[in-house]
Amino acid sequence: MEKRYRERKRMSETKGLILVFTGNGKGKTTAALGMGLRAWGQGMRVLVLQFIKGGWRYGELNATERLGGRFAIRQLGEGFTRADNGKTMGDHREAARHALEEANKEINAGNFDLIILDEILYALKFGLIDMEEVLALLDKKPPHLHLVLTGRDAPPEIIDRADLVTEMREIKHHYKKGIKAQRGVEF
Ligand code: ATP
Ligand code: MG
Repeated sequence: MEKRYRERKRMSETKGLILVFTGNGKGKTTAALGMGLRAWGQGMRVLVLQFIKGGWRYGELNATERLGGRFAIRQLGEGFTRADNGKTMGDHREAARHALEEANKEINAGNFDLIILDEILYALKFGLIDMEEVLALLDKKPPHLHLVLTGRDAPPEIIDRADLVTEMREIKHHYKKGIKAQRGVEF
């Protein structure tokens, strides 16, 4: 299967896309992971770089461990969304910068067919990384690589360069009823 995908890639049947999952509703990261699973099933090599470490998404970590090295998840953030964990703004900035470097390196290295930059749009929104750096990353994407970006509030510059943008719109969220995060649903 992996070999067949490589063959197709060489025959230029593959047009690498820039895909964005944004909006206030739940489902951005799960959509990206679902696409990752689909790609894995096609023999593709998938990498997820988490810019903002959520801390407890163990479900996907446990699952992908069983998929072998062809589906890798690297948590690179410092848990920015969790208040009061003793980290300074400088720590967060450094972690986000490191994540961006890793993204740059992997996008160029060609070891993966689909790369998911999870929550990169939050890092951008919070000013942990610069727009110019992210745009440079998109501009030099190799032609066969699919790149997925997630996070709320995708800025117009990113939307402009993307081939697909889906906005998750919240109609209801159980959290508003005071229901806490549920195993298998949120982590
Ligand atoms: P998921 O990882 O479940 O696909 P997401 O990537 O769309 O969610 P994020 O903004 O990354 O959403 O936030 C992650 C966490 O915040 C998840 O646990 C999710 O349930 C929760 N969340 C997402 N959207 C909302 C919302 N509109 N109201 C409250 N909590 C939310
Ligand atoms: Mg998310």
